[in-house]
Amino acid sequence: MVTEFSVIKFSEIEDGVVLKGEIDGLQYKSVEDMEFTFLSPIEYELQVNKFEDGIQLTGPVTCQLSLSCGRCLDDFQYPVRTYLDIEITRKSHFEEADELELQGEDLDIYYFENDEIDLNPLVYEEVLLNVPMKPLCGEECQGFCDTCGKNRNNETCSCDKTPDTPLGEKLKSFLVFQGDNHGSSKTKNISIKKG
Ligand SMILES: [Zn+2]
Ligand SMILES: [Zn+2]
Repeated sequence: MVTEFSVIKFSEIEDGVVLKGEIDGLQYKSVEDMEFTFLSPIEYELQVNKFEDGIQLTGPVTCQLSLSCGRCLDDFQYPVRTYLDIEITRKSHFEEADELELQGEDLDIYYFENDEIDLNPLVYEEVLLNVPMKPLCGEECQGFCDTCGKNRNNETCSCDKTPDTPLGEKLKSFLVFQGDNHGSSKTKNISIKKG
């Protein structure tokens, strides 16, 4: 049995049902999440396991995001394919008193009150947990050139290419030689001061 829900009533939900639906992620997006946007609704298909004072929800959560690459700043598509597995239990007065302590001990347990469980924030949070902190458009992304600032995925530049030619080798040793000279002149300066 497949049903479409957002808010479910604990007293009415049956063990074994599958909750299927779509969420417009944009409705939850806050300013702090601005580094990504939704290209598709969030889809979920969750199996309910009901027990005495709560339910377990398990099943796939998927959506398509647009992220900004941490190296080249290009936007790229990022598919989220994750699997939700959480427990939601009725909040008792005892738990309310010790709420902070309990949350710290078991982060995968959620609470509901007044017989109502809103699925959408739970599904949305699962997506957030799967957004990479430092997204890359690809492992091979070249990023920007430190010297000329060109995006090296789109343009080639010759700034940082290590020369392999005989001329290049000569240039290298020349630079090393210049560096040595510099060093010795500094030493000279110091000895002059000392004398
Ligand atoms: Zn990139
Ligand atoms: Zn360059």
